[in-house]
Amino acid sequence: MKLKDKVALITGGARGIGLGFAEIFAAEGAKVVIADINLARAEAAAATIGAAATAMKVDVTKLEDIDAVVSKIDADFGGIDILVNNAAIFDMAPIQAITEESYQRVFDVNLKGPLFTMKAVANVMIARGRGGKIINMASQAGRRGEALVTLYCASKAAIISATQSAALALVKYGINVNAIAPGVVDGEHWDIVDAKFAEWEGLKPGEKKAAVAKSVPIGRFATPDDIKGLALFLASSDSDYILAQTYNVDGGNWMS
Ligand code: NAD
Repeated sequence: MKLKDKVALITGGARGIGLGFAEIFAAEGAKVVIADINLARAEAAAATIGAAATAMKVDVTKLEDIDAVVSKIDADFGGIDILVNNAAIFDMAPIQAITEESYQRVFDVNLKGPLFTMKAVANVMIARGRGGKIINMASQAGRRGEALVTLYCASKAAIISATQSAALALVKYGINVNAIAPGVVDGEHWDIVDAKFAEWEGLKPGEKKAAVAKSVPIGRFATPDDIKGLALFLASSDSDYILAQTYNVDGGNWMS
């Protein structure tokens, strides 16, 4: 029970990687709030976990939503010990096809959301005076560019930088801020990417995913289960001396 009686907020936790985090945090004794733009899906996810999980609606692009959720958790649960900034969206377009609208949409969800959620949660953690753990979801895409994923890559590079600045500002309050950079993680997201490649490059359905899996040194996509152990480590006291880091969990993809 590494997180006994801790209170964790996971944005975008209704499915995929975030749901994996909710499951392991709850199994380790935390009370988990799954906050997602899709409330019905968040409620269904919370129901699979049981009494340790609560669903709330949040659109992380809206500061009033963030503040309302953070205030409610603080009031209902007596503080917040762990935040995972997991909600994000993907956008596939090379530089010559980005638009002001797509820029705004991607950066609102992937950067503005995590920044202002960190701000709101950090202020609660500081006021409660018992420190905390903040984990931002970066990506291998934030470490190096991809020709067809311009805005997503830039937003994930920005979150790596924001992790460092926040970590340095918050260390004196006993708050550790770190980030996780997965490589390729199977889920609905990759089914959409595969379909896009099928359309753009004349590939058959599944062909892109198979090629990507083959290119990873470990030979397969990750699953959310492959990522959650690191999140548990970064959320627990085992990582008290670690801050401002971004860890790859990528099956060696960075090296390939
Ligand atoms: P996903 O698309 O399966 O889930 C994202 C969740 O965020 C969804 O439940 C969605 O409803 C929610 N969401 C979207 N916009 C929101 C908003 N405005 N406010 C609140 N919630 C919102 O994502 P995933 O594949 O599980 O990825 C989780 C995280 O890991 C993301 O930050 C992603 O960028 C990162 N990541 C994923 C991969 C991958 O291959 N899947 C690789 C590297 C990094």
